[in-house]
Amino acid sequence: MTLALYACDPAKSRGRRYPQAPAPTRTDYQRDRDRIVHSTAFRRLVYKTQVFLNHEGDLFRTRLTHSLEVAQLGRSIARSLQLNEDLVEAIALAHDLGHTPFGHAGQDALNACMADFGGFEHNLQSLRVVDHLEERYPEFDGLNLTFETREGILKHCSRHHAEQLERAEPGGVGRRFLARSQPSLEAQLCNLADEIAYNAHDIDDGVRSGLITLAQLQQVPLFDNFRLQTLTAFPQLQDKGQGRRLLYESIRRMLSAQVYDVISATQGALQAAAPGTVDAVRQSPPLIRFSTSMREQSQVLKSFLLEKLYRHPRVLDTTGQAQQVVRDLFARYLAQPQDMPESHSRRLQAALAHEPLPERALPRIVADYIAGMTDRFALREHQRLTGQRLLLEPF
Ligand code: MG
Repeated sequence: MTLALYACDPAKSRGRRYPQAPAPTRTDYQRDRDRIVHSTAFRRLVYKTQVFLNHEGDLFRTRLTHSLEVAQLGRSIARSLQLNEDLVEAIALAHDLGHTPFGHAGQDALNACMADFGGFEHNLQSLRVVDHLEERYPEFDGLNLTFETREGILKHCSRHHAEQLERAEPGGVGRRFLARSQPSLEAQLCNLADEIAYNAHDIDDGVRSGLITLAQLQQVPLFDNFRLQTLTAFPQLQDKGQGRRLLYESIRRMLSAQVYDVISATQGALQAAAPGTVDAVRQSPPLIRFSTSMREQSQVLKSFLLEKLYRHPRVLDTTGQAQQVVRDLFARYLAQPQDMPESHSRRLQAALAHEPLPERALPRIVADYIAGMTDRFALREHQRLTGQRLLLEPF
């Protein structure tokens, strides 16, 4: 597979923080992907909520299956655009590693708990996982990934956090948020593949849960056009009992249309900007994009999902309880750090030796511990420490 001039080439990587000899049979980006797949944080994704709590049903997306779908969409678009598929896969598989249990509810609660101690942000946490929290190598903390994978993992970052990163690693992954430049095309692609994946699978999971219906989805032109197209091609899907097949075929067509739209709109943008190197990509405006019309249609779908699914009273009810679990755990570990496993007190001693603001060391370690938890571990731990059963299924 020939790479375009604007694609990331592992031979020109900015390298790893701790230099390592190249692997005999794999490129550096393949090696990054393999390190991610073998990490502890990656395995935890299987028990973390995407939208629906992990134990609400076996068929709902989890963070793991979501990440696999992002990787599939990303690779498929990357190949057409002659981008680096291995890098796209590595970024996609790692992009949600820093998510707390209970999805965005968990992140919001943890961020509120951390308000006086530097905040909590899941993109930054994903980077923290691969840079510091994985303990697998004798010589260093973290997975020691290449610059390009780390650049892609850090999707967003506040100015304040970017300044901190820049102090720790001058000219590193925080720099672009200060210089207002773009990441590689592979990183840009993962952002858009993430959005395409969750818009599509949240329709599927939303209908499966009964919180949204095919009838309501007729308000969403992006979906409804493909539903009508499907019914014209397969009128028998109108019949009772065929709803699932109709849904799947409509989503499949919608996904394909979005993939082809990104490929053609991006090809247009690449022709116009003609970046000859990855650094020229970084200095250009964002080049991976939907067409204007697809961007608008996708926005309507997002607003629909926000109003009808993410803010559905049943989702909000679990959200409230999930936030209480996170808040209770945070308060408890802060007051009684000995309730965390032994390894966390060792980390605390090490952090106190380096932390410029020692009063922040313990809250950060508590946040790292809670963020790493799976949904069910957090609920069981909450029950163990408070005696309350929140959101727990009978085991
Ligand atoms: Mg995601």
